[in-house]
Amino acid sequence: MSELNLILLGPPGAGKGTQAQRLIEDFQLPYISTGDILRAAVTEQTELGKKAKGFMDAGDLVPDDVIIGIILERLADPDCRDGFILDGFPRTIAQAEALDTALVDFGRHLTAAILIEVPDEDVIKRISGRRVSVKTGRVYHVDFDPPKHEDRCDVDGSRLIQRDDDKPETVKHRLEVYHQHAEPLINHYEATGLLRRIDGTRAPTEIHDHIRATIATLRLEETL
Ligand code: AMP
Repeated sequence: MSELNLILLGPPGAGKGTQAQRLIEDFQLPYISTGDILRAAVTEQTELGKKAKGFMDAGDLVPDDVIIGIILERLADPDCRDGFILDGFPRTIAQAEALDTALVDFGRHLTAAILIEVPDEDVIKRISGRRVSVKTGRVYHVDFDPPKHEDRCDVDGSRLIQRDDDKPETVKHRLEVYHQHAEPLINHYEATGLLRRIDGTRAPTEIHDHIRATIATLRLEETL
């Protein structure tokens, strides 16, 4: 079976993480989320975390030179040999070009850039309703997945908070940043024939089915 090198595109809150989890199970691929890598670095207060924190709290992008090296090194790891799912990278044309060049150097290419599309109003509703337990890290949603008792975690009763980058003003800013950077990226992958659009307002299972069907078609095309 050919390798499966996927990029997930879409606004924050589009459900990329949820879909990635399902694709990992389907295809046993490593999932590389720059947001997760950066948040872990901030928590562990590593050099990377110290450099990234201010940008992240403000909802701005971390500079390209900070993020590109980390991701390209990760893609060279043995577990990425049969493919990978990238979420949150590339975010800029410079990152996309660095990725294209690195893959060519490895004798590889992207299979597809999957764009999960969700309107801004839905994104704001989805993200600003998130609440996270300060202790267990469990994530709730005030409308879609509320805790049994307001502002308390079901697991241990710990306090639920709204993450700084989930506050409505920051989400609006993150969306502005997303649109500003996504448009050139979408054009880039459209021009190279790799873009596949998916309606992200549908139920997670339907979205998953659509992505799987898209991947199956791509694989069939590769064998023709
Ligand atoms: P995410 O969870 O993907 O929305 O990422 C959270 C934050 O991490 C973003 O708001 C950015 O500050 C930073 N970040 C994640 N991925 C990248 C990237 N590829 N380039 C620059 N900054 C990033």
